[in-house]
Formats: sequence, C-alpha cells, structure tokens
Amino acid sequence: MICYNCTKEIDNTDNYCRFCGAGQGSHIAWYYKMWGVWILLFIIGPFCLWFLYKSPYQNKIVKIINAVLITLISIIFCYKFYVAVKEITDLYSGLLSGSLF
Ligand SMILES: [Zn+2]
Repeated sequence: MICYNCTKEIDNTDNYCRFCGAGQGSHIAWYYKMWGVWILLFIIGPFCLWFLYKSPYQNKIVKIINAVLITLISIIFCYKFYVAVKEITDLYSGLLSGSLF
C-alpha cells in the first residue's frame, strides 16, 4: 500500500503512515472528506481548497467541480461583504455630513 500523503510504501495493516503519520483508509482525517471540506469553507473560507486538493478521497473531476463551486461561493460572499461594508460607510459618511436630515 502507498501512503496518499507522502507516497511511501507502508504495510496494508497500517492505520497510520509510519513515515508522515497520516491516517489511512477509515482513519483518514475528517477534513479530507467532502463534507469536511465544505464545513471548513464556513470556518476558513477559500483556504479549504488546500484540503480539497490534498484529499485522497475524491477523483480529479469531483475535486475540480467542488473547487469551482467553492471559488464561486467565495467570490459571491466577498462581493456581498464589500457591498454591505460600502452601504454602511456611505450611511455613516451621510450621517456625519448631515445630508440625511
Ligand atoms: Zn505517509
């Protein structure tokens, strides 16, 4: 068996790689599973793409589709955040200059 993380030869019965310590088979860390990557999106944002890239679970096409979706969601979120901040700063500067009253 080959470790997905360090690509070194390990024993078939190893639950963890004896070289890099990465979990194997059912011991692979939760953040490499697809639901884990999506949970990470809401915690660390687009940095979860790194875990999707490193995930040993998914094939390339599934990874690419999910990466595109995560990137789109990140861009939409950043745009919505920008619009919200701009509205607040416009409102605040309007209040300061007294143009609202
Ligand atoms: Zn390893």
